[in-house]
Amino acid sequence: MKINLKELTIEKAHESLKKGEYTVADLVGAYLNVIKEKNTEINAYLEVYDDVFAQAETAQKMFEEGKDTLMTGIPIALKDNMLFEGHIASASSKILENYKATYDSGIVKQLKQEGAVFLGRTNMDEFAMGSSTETSAFGITKNPLDVSRVPGGSSGGPVAAIAMDGALVALGSDTGGSIRQPASFCGLVGLKPTYGIVSRYGIISMGSSLDQVGPFGKNVRDVEILFNAINDYDKNDSTSIKKENRLSSLPLKKKIGVPRSFLSGDGTDPEVTKNFEENCEKLKSAGYEIVDVSLPLIKYSLAVYYIICPAEISSNLARYDGIRYGLNSDEQKLYDVYTKSRGKGFGKEVRRRILLGTYILSHGYYDAYYNTAIKVRDAIKKELDNVFLEVDAIITPTSPFMPFKFGEKLEDPVSMYLSDLFTVPANIAGTPAISIPSGKNKDGMPFGLHIMVSVMREDVLFTIGKDFEKLI
Ligand code: GLN
Repeated sequence: MKINLKELTIEKAHESLKKGEYTVADLVGAYLNVIKEKNTEINAYLEVYDDVFAQAETAQKMFEEGKDTLMTGIPIALKDNMLFEGHIASASSKILENYKATYDSGIVKQLKQEGAVFLGRTNMDEFAMGSSTETSAFGITKNPLDVSRVPGGSSGGPVAAIAMDGALVALGSDTGGSIRQPASFCGLVGLKPTYGIVSRYGIISMGSSLDQVGPFGKNVRDVEILFNAINDYDKNDSTSIKKENRLSSLPLKKKIGVPRSFLSGDGTDPEVTKNFEENCEKLKSAGYEIVDVSLPLIKYSLAVYYIICPAEISSNLARYDGIRYGLNSDEQKLYDVYTKSRGKGFGKEVRRRILLGTYILSHGYYDAYYNTAIKVRDAIKKELDNVFLEVDAIITPTSPFMPFKFGEKLEDPVSMYLSDLFTVPANIAGTPAISIPSGKNKDGMPFGLHIMVSVMREDVLFTIGKDFEKLI
């Protein structure tokens, strides 16, 4: 039986597996064939795991024994910063090129219990720093919708894997927009959950107060199913939200806020603005009231991010000293081991952020930069909390511009950093947010609608998301 991977959803695959229309190995085999055919050009996967069929066998047994869940046998792509015991996780960096995980990350552990099948690890910007997957030490990943364009980043590999039909769903990480922006660039749905709701245990850290793992899929329902499978308390993650503190769903006001003055700033493509206005009209036709909301501080989110994030990067990445992990430069003096290993192992963008972060945290400066940023962060959070008393959600475009060509922004870091203009506030405030495809332009490139809600209200994202999806 030929499986139509383009149209496949988790529920459809589950039904077919349950009925025995095909086996987990058939399904996995179909994806591996696509990977074989397309990965040389797209470079979504850095490695296809060698135990994929053994995993498929375990999943098949779960069906036979009636122990299956919706995620059993579902082929999933991991981002290269997620630990899967016995397999390499390199964060697409030379410094961790041969690093083999010695334990499972929290999310891998949860999904193993459900019998999901991990197909392989996918490419990303080095240590998740970037918006185009061009900073990977292992080559660029191309956008399957137009191979002359970037797939977005830093989770370019996971999205390209789905967009080329080389995985049914995938997991990414999002520190400033790395799930939502690439989802938008490849015409997929991507969710950054509430900070602390999905385990970060065993995820290679970038900015620990901002990082969050989340799902990608072709539609909102697939993303919801995968989110439900990983949304659990983990005692190994000290920031994990306890079960008793998690919220259950509440009724909607059906009122959505648009931060007009934030949107009218420079740098947003006119075609993006036009698509956004059309999206507002569509939501109105589905019975949502669209109101203007005032968020005067939100425009400082990006500036706050580029203080807090490099500061956390500089301290998180201090552990790669050439001795404890990864690449080791054999030198006579200890100091040279540190500098040479780090100099050879880290790429340009990573070194730039470590330098920035070290400067920000240095004596005489951290009050002016870091402590000020923390205060503004708190004020942004309060501002958003107040607005969420009045509206269910805040909407913006996901990215201010369309998927760009390779090299277009690489030499100008500030223009690359602007990719995160609309996505970064959710990381600053720890709130959940989703990107949903909202049509295509004349070149066939996708637009994305960004929806942000109050903490632990992922249910609202799924409700609005499913309503919106029907209108596209
Ligand atoms: N593009 C942003 C950055 O480069 C966000 C990255 C991310 O979310 N991991 O920092």
